Amino acid sequence: MNIILLGPPGAGKGTQARILVDEHDMIQLSTGDMLREAKDSGTEMGKIVADVMARGDLVTDDIVIGLIREKLQGDKKGGFIFDGFPRTLAQADALTGLLAETGEKLDAVIEMQVDDEALVSRITARSTCSNCGEVYNDHTKPIPADGICTSCGQKAEFKRRSDDNEESLKNRLMEYYKKTSPLIGYYYAKGALTRVDGLGDIDAVKAEIAAALD
Ligand code: ADP
Ligand code: ADP
Ligand code: ZN
Repeated sequence: MNIILLGPPGAGKGTQARILVDEHDMIQLSTGDMLREAKDSGTEMGKIVADVMARGDLVTDDIVIGLIREKLQGDKKGGFIFDGFPRTLAQADALTGLLAETGEKLDAVIEMQVDDEALVSRITARSTCSNCGEVYNDHTKPIPADGICTSCGQKAEFKRRSDDNEESLKNRLMEYYKKTSPLIGYYYAKGALTRVDGLGDIDAVKAEIAAALD
């Protein structure tokens, strides 16, 4: 099964992707995570994307399509979860082509609906375990008081993303509405879209996604 999690920054895509990885042995393909890795390891590509990401602009289609192409050649396990990709119509078309090349197809596109106010509140409270990537939230899923990550069991550092500030977020939201939200219509027209209420708690959203994939 190959699925796309579609939604604005902070909708809960990464959180739900990690659950699907644990429960269905799927592979999470987060272009945001891949770009951050490139940036942190200081590769040429990482240097190119650093400023773009800090501003909250979109990285060029060629770069992210290249990243995804590489991953699709690897192990497929229980299928791919596209998290934060595609973000433009050009990326969506490229994904269709890449899947066709490898004999794969898209099984579902889950649109996670969350209103803008909740997004701002979620993102400015987000932190991530630097060891395993588990996502925490000051309001809804606080960092354990003993500093031990509930997911990996390690004493970990919990990092905030440098682009999780209100200014970059405003720009990311603008980019989402201008360039990514047309994908909702695109996948609806293809008969692939399922809408999920992303405002419920993590378990409620998880149940809605499970029902959509059934
Ligand atoms: P969020 O989890 O807040 O939605 P991501 O981690 O997915 O953010 O992305 C962080 C940044 O990485 C984006 O603001 C953008 O600069 C870049 N990025 C990630 N995925 C893509 C993509 N598919 N196309 C273009 N830029 C991307
Ligand atoms: P995205 O990958 O779409 O940017 P994340 O999964 O990183 O979103 O979630 C953004 C923030 O919101 C994180 O702090 C996360 O813990 C929190 N969060 C995720 N899902 C929910 C939910 N259903 N209810 C409340 N908070 C949530
Ligand atoms: Zn951890």
